[in-house]
Amino acid sequence: MSAEKMEKYDSGRVCPHCGRPIYCYDIPFFEIPVAITCQCILDQDAATEKQREAVKKQRRIEELTAKSQMPPRLRACTFDVFQRREGTEKAMDTCRTYADRFPEMREKGLGLILVGNTGSGKTHLAAAIVNSVIQQCYSAVFYKAAKLFDFAAENHAALPDGCERSSLLVLDDFGASNDTESRKATLQKILDYRIDGMRPTILTTNIPPKEWASRLDVRTVDRLMDKSLFRVISITAPSMRQERRRSE
Ligand SMILES: [Zn+2]
Repeated sequence: MSAEKMEKYDSGRVCPHCGRPIYCYDIPFFEIPVAITCQCILDQDAATEKQREAVKKQRRIEELTAKSQMPPRLRACTFDVFQRREGTEKAMDTCRTYADRFPEMREKGLGLILVGNTGSGKTHLAAAIVNSVIQQCYSAVFYKAAKLFDFAAENHAALPDGCERSSLLVLDDFGASNDTESRKATLQKILDYRIDGMRPTILTTNIPPKEWASRLDVRTVDRLMDKSLFRVISITAPSMRQERRRSE
């Protein structure tokens, strides 16, 4: 029988913490009085547990951030500080939706390709997605494509940490440095791992889709064009740096 169902009575004492009356019930037959835990203690326990969970989550986020390979400069990139300009609105909204609904995107293994000129804001948007995904306690890693290709070249084609298993991989600016055979093979290998594992990848590039066929491996192009694997977002805004120069 639970304490609530037994007849409770006022013990005549009050809780030293909150002053509420302390109720007791007697253990049947033995008639030993047992005090019922005051609500203030239960509330305190719940608050402590909640705080413990929050600390645990914060620690997990710090851990994921440390493993993200994200350059410190990009850790402050969020959607809220993204400068909306003409030509960036649709990309910004789509990226934000992607980040907010990451659990569903991950389930489907759906990635993004952000296409735009240097300085158009594509790196900021990709970084903002990574930051948001980490806040949701998913693992995400961010690599400059050139850095990743150099790593693979120096390590017998091995891939750096997190490329295969992280919930999200960003490969930033892959077009600029993608033309050698070994780099093409590395990109294809990464895509194979990610796609086979149903793990989404976000690519940013300044190569427009109409040039992919002439500049990328044919299998890679097949993958990138597959609508069940990637959505292509074009950012048409000019470079921020150019715009600033023009307004000076
Ligand atoms: Zn109390």
